[in-house]
Amino acid sequence: MAFESTYTYQFDTAVYKGAVTFPTQLFINGEFVNPVNKGTIDLINPATCKAIARISVGDCEDIELAAQAARAAFKEHWGLKVPGAARSKLLHKLADLVDANTDQIAALEALNVGKTFHAAKAQDLPITSSILRYYAGWADKIQGKSIQTTPDKIGFTRHEPIGVIGVIVPWNFPLSTLIMKLAPALACGNTIVAKPSEFTPLSALFLCTLIREAGFPRGVVNIVPGYGDTAGQAVGESMIIDKVAFTGSTLTGRKIMEAAAKSNLKKISLELGGKSPSIIFDDADIDQAVKWAINGIFMNQGELCVAGSRIYVQAGIYDDFLQKFTESAQCLSVGDPFSPGTFQGPQISERQFERVMGYIKSGQEEGATLRLGGERHGTEGYFIQPTVFTECTPNMKIVQEEIFGPVAAIMKFSAEEEVIEQANNTTYGLACSVYTKDINRAMRVASNIEAGTAWVNFTNWPDLGLPVGGFKQSGAGKDLGEDALENYTNIKAVHINIGIKI
Ligand code: NAD
Repeated sequence: MAFESTYTYQFDTAVYKGAVTFPTQLFINGEFVNPVNKGTIDLINPATCKAIARISVGDCEDIELAAQAARAAFKEHWGLKVPGAARSKLLHKLADLVDANTDQIAALEALNVGKTFHAAKAQDLPITSSILRYYAGWADKIQGKSIQTTPDKIGFTRHEPIGVIGVIVPWNFPLSTLIMKLAPALACGNTIVAKPSEFTPLSALFLCTLIREAGFPRGVVNIVPGYGDTAGQAVGESMIIDKVAFTGSTLTGRKIMEAAAKSNLKKISLELGGKSPSIIFDDADIDQAVKWAINGIFMNQGELCVAGSRIYVQAGIYDDFLQKFTESAQCLSVGDPFSPGTFQGPQISERQFERVMGYIKSGQEEGATLRLGGERHGTEGYFIQPTVFTECTPNMKIVQEEIFGPVAAIMKFSAEEEVIEQANNTTYGLACSVYTKDINRAMRVASNIEAGTAWVNFTNWPDLGLPVGGFKQSGAGKDLGEDALENYTNIKAVHINIGIKI
C-alpha cells in the first residue's frame, strides 16, 4: 500500500475556500515520523461517505517511542526544570496560533467530524484557545501550602508534576477535549503522549505544527493517532506513562482502569458517558425552556456527552411544550456542514449511524410513540432526522442507554419527588438541567440530582472556571477549572526539623 506522509486538503465550499498542507505522520520527539509498522487509516467525510485522506497510525511500538521521548523531555528540559512563567508563555503562544488558524481548523473539524463549520468556528475553537489561556494563567500559580503543626517543625506541601501523561480523547469534540487535558497537564509541568480518536485525528495533527511553531521543546508533546485496541490499549498498559487522562465511553473507561491496574497502577481520570435529564416545571418560561432543551439534545448532532436526552415535562405544560418542541425540532436544518444555515450535520460514521438507527428501532419496538423523525435524512452521508419519542417508560433502552445521536425521549411527570427519583434512575451522573422560576425548587432539585453539573434555566454552556466531570459511572476526576489541576500534580509533604531531638 502506498504510504503518504503529507496531504494537501482543498476546501472549496460556500463558506471556506483555501488549502491546508501539513504532515500527517506521527508527531514524536518534535519530529513527524513514519510509524514503525507503516500503519495507515483512510479518513471518511461523513457528509459524503467518501475518503478524504490517508494518514499514518501508530501502535504499541510507536506509543512506547513516544513515551520514551516524553520521559526524556520531562527529565531533561521540562518538569521542574522550567519555571511556570515560561510554560505560561508557550501556552499563550499556542492559543494565539489556534486563533490565527481558526478557519482552517474549523474546516478540518467540519470535514472530518461532520460538525457544522460555523459551530466549530464560533464555539469549539474560541473555547479551545480560551482553555489554553486559562491554564496559561495557572502555570505560575501551581503551589502548595505551609502547614504549621508543631513549633519544632516547618511543614509545607509541594505540588509537583506527575511526569508523563497519556491523553486519550474521542471524536465528538476532537480538539477541545484534547486541549482540555493538554493545557492543565502542561501548565503543571508534565509531558504528553496523546492519542486522538482514529476517526478524527486531523485537527490534532494540525495542532502538532502549531506546537512546533509555538516553540515547545522536543518531546514535551507527542501525538500518535491510532486505533483504540492497539495504540489506546498501549497507553493504558505502558510502564513509562504515569497517568492517563481519558474522555470517551464508559466501556472504554473500564478497560483503561483494568490496564492501569495490571501495569504500573498509573493514576487515571475518566470523563465518560451520560444520559442527562432536562426537567421542565409548570412555572418555567416555556419558550426559553423549549429553545434550551432543543439545543440540549440536538446540538452537535446529539453527539454530546452532556446531551439532555431525557426530557421530563410537568403535566400542566406538557401538551404545550410538546407541540412547541416538536415544531422547533422539525424546523432544524439538517445538511451540508459547510452551509451557513445548517444546524445539524451527519453522524460521525457508519457504525454510529447504525447504532443510533438501532436505538430508534428499539424505541418503536418497546412501545414508545415516534412523534417526529426516525429516518435517514437525504440519500448520501450519515444524516439522521431529528427524532422525538413520547410515551417512554423508565426501563426502555432509549431512556436508559446513551444514544449519542439526535434522539429525544420526552416524559410527563406530576410531582417534584417523582421526577427526582426518575432522573436519578440511571447508572450515569454527568449533568442535568432544571427549568423553573422558583429559586427554592431550582436549588432543591439541582442538589438532589446525582450529577457532576447542574444547569438552572439553561444547558450545555461550559465555563472554563467551573469543573466538569461525572458522578456514578460517568467518570472520576474533573476537567476545567482549578479542580482539573489536581489530575496533573503529585502532592509532596516536606517536614523540616527545627528542634526535634532524639
Ligand atoms: P470510545 O470510548 O469508543 O473511544 C474514545 C477513545 O478511546 C478513542 O480515542 C478510542 O480510540 C480510545 N479507545 C478505544 N478502546 C480503547 C482501549 N481499549 N484502550 C484505550 N483507549 C481506547 O468513545 P467514542 O465513541 O470515541 O466517544 C463517545 C463517548 O465519549 C460517549 O460515551 C461520550 O459520552 C463520551 N464523551 C464523554 C465526555 C465527557 O466529558 N464526559 C466528552 C465527550 C465524549
